[in-house]
Amino acid sequence: MRTDRSIFLLSLGCSKNTVDSERLVGQARRHGLRFTDESAEADIVIINTCGFIADAKQESIDEILTAADKRRKGEIGALYVMGCLSALYAAELRAELPEVDRFFGTADLAEILELLGSTYDPEKRHERSLFTPPHYAWLKIAEGCSRTCSFCAIPKMRGRYTSEPVEDLLREASMLKKKGVKELNLIAQDISPYGRDLDGRPRLNDLLRKLSDQGFDWLRLLYAYPLDFPLDVVDTMRERENVCNYLDMPVQHIGDRILASMKRGIGRRDTIRLLESIRERNPDIRLRTTMIVGYPGETRGEFEELLEFVRDFRFDRLGCFPYSHEEHTSAYETLGDDVPEVEKQERVRELMKLQEGISEEKNRLLEGETLKVLVEEVDGSLAYCRTEYDAPEVDNECILDTGGQNVGTGEFRMARIGDSSAYELHGAIEPAS
Ligand code: SF4
Repeated sequence: MRTDRSIFLLSLGCSKNTVDSERLVGQARRHGLRFTDESAEADIVIINTCGFIADAKQESIDEILTAADKRRKGEIGALYVMGCLSALYAAELRAELPEVDRFFGTADLAEILELLGSTYDPEKRHERSLFTPPHYAWLKIAEGCSRTCSFCAIPKMRGRYTSEPVEDLLREASMLKKKGVKELNLIAQDISPYGRDLDGRPRLNDLLRKLSDQGFDWLRLLYAYPLDFPLDVVDTMRERENVCNYLDMPVQHIGDRILASMKRGIGRRDTIRLLESIRERNPDIRLRTTMIVGYPGETRGEFEELLEFVRDFRFDRLGCFPYSHEEHTSAYETLGDDVPEVEKQERVRELMKLQEGISEEKNRLLEGETLKVLVEEVDGSLAYCRTEYDAPEVDNECILDTGGQNVGTGEFRMARIGDSSAYELHGAIEPAS
């Protein structure tokens, strides 16, 4: 392919998809291929799709249709679709969208690069062109998932759990550090079983300590499944200054009947015991979780049980989703989607209202505190920042007065918190020492 042709890659979905897109662009650029951020300027459009839940699928389809229209009109020379939706529905999409030149799955980097006239070098697969701001990055430590959660089709889209070798991740991390990355967010569909498929041992803590030794400012753990979670990482968090006292652990529900139907492999008692022992081992930890409401058969009583648990346990960060009845999942094949959509939305509203109050009370406790923050953006006299207790893109924002100081994006500064609300902290950047 002529290298003067410009390529636009639209990366949809989650951070795992973003890493795939970054790897594709990183490898292609090594062979002189040119990428543009403007789809209107592109000769070739690549869409990295998401297939998790209905809304995400619809967004992917809408983007494909928009590009297909341009392809039909000859405004672009080629249209390629990759990623989760394509992995799951390639045959249907191919039949309905002849304008798309090629469909790829989630593990076809080499084929896509070949089609673009580039070559895939597995030795260089860790060379990425970051889609995130330069001061933070995702480190995808494993691909796929071997769990069987009833509501989830990800194992069908991304295959069985495959850990990246520790040495490869350390090399990738040191490359990212040389690029100026200060915050490394460890991600996978599930980080808890990391390493077990390598040599039968849980290796997450080993990896975390070695990454901590590389001297990143912040290391963060996201997407930890409660079952087989390696508790020793909580000790490392407490011991190591540069490992954020933060853990994202989706529990999805707390009712035994629902957790069993979801095939989570862990029940109410063990979930609570785990969460409490995490807090005991590291009292400064901030816990984020995700809940699903309106799961097939969820009674008002079971929802009340979830409300009571959230009220009592008081998570620091919580996201809640209405159950989405997805094809290619065991719940779709065996259960009816019997909780009405309005009732699902009402349960989301009720649970998030409760969490809003909890978050407000917790943030109020930070008023008067001085915290280390990472500056994400500066707009006039205001700096938009995050504390170590806030992951990129999902958690609380810290809005700080710069006081006329020269404050730069990607800087770490100390901040005095003066005021707060449910999802924001307000205050001022302290003078640089
Ligand atoms: S852990 Fe469960 S919800 Fe998460 S990707 Fe695996 S199957 Fe899906």
